[in-house]
Amino acid sequence: MKAVTAMEWRVGIGVDAHRFADNRPLKLCGIIIPHPQGLHGHSDADVALHALCDALLGALALGDIGQHFPDTDPRYKDADSAQFVRAVMAMVQERGWRVSNVDITLIAQTPKLSPYREPMRRQVAELLELSLDAVSVKATTTDGMGFTGRKEGIAAIAVVMLVRSDR
Ligand code: MG
Repeated sequence: MKAVTAMEWRVGIGVDAHRFADNRPLKLCGIIIPHPQGLHGHSDADVALHALCDALLGALALGDIGQHFPDTDPRYKDADSAQFVRAVMAMVQERGWRVSNVDITLIAQTPKLSPYREPMRRQVAELLELSLDAVSVKATTTDGMGFTGRKEGIAAIAVVMLVRSDR
């Protein structure tokens, strides 16, 4: 008799936004993007990795990034957000899950992000130990509308799918 392996699936979504700030590097998906301004935040303000963490935590129903890595904690001042992703990935793996795929959308009027899409994909794939074809990084403007359209900051949305087999 052929063994049947039951698969379980979980989906998670994460959303984040940060305002532009002077004298900060702009970090998105773990890479530095040349731009006159960075993003305001307690950590490195990598809005894409924050949304990714929240998507992973959402799939696990384990709360949000602010609960796990509070912005009142001096340990996280200017912290590399890759460390948050690694810590959340440890929670994913401890529970027997693995990431099936991830889809990130950056919402920014400026800077133009298409030249950095592939480096951002590669960085996320490396962080999550995924093959490149399981990692999507997209960018859109809002056609000049809203806070991103007014170039006040950058927003990001991430969706992840987790998979686990019961044997
Ligand atoms: Mg954030």
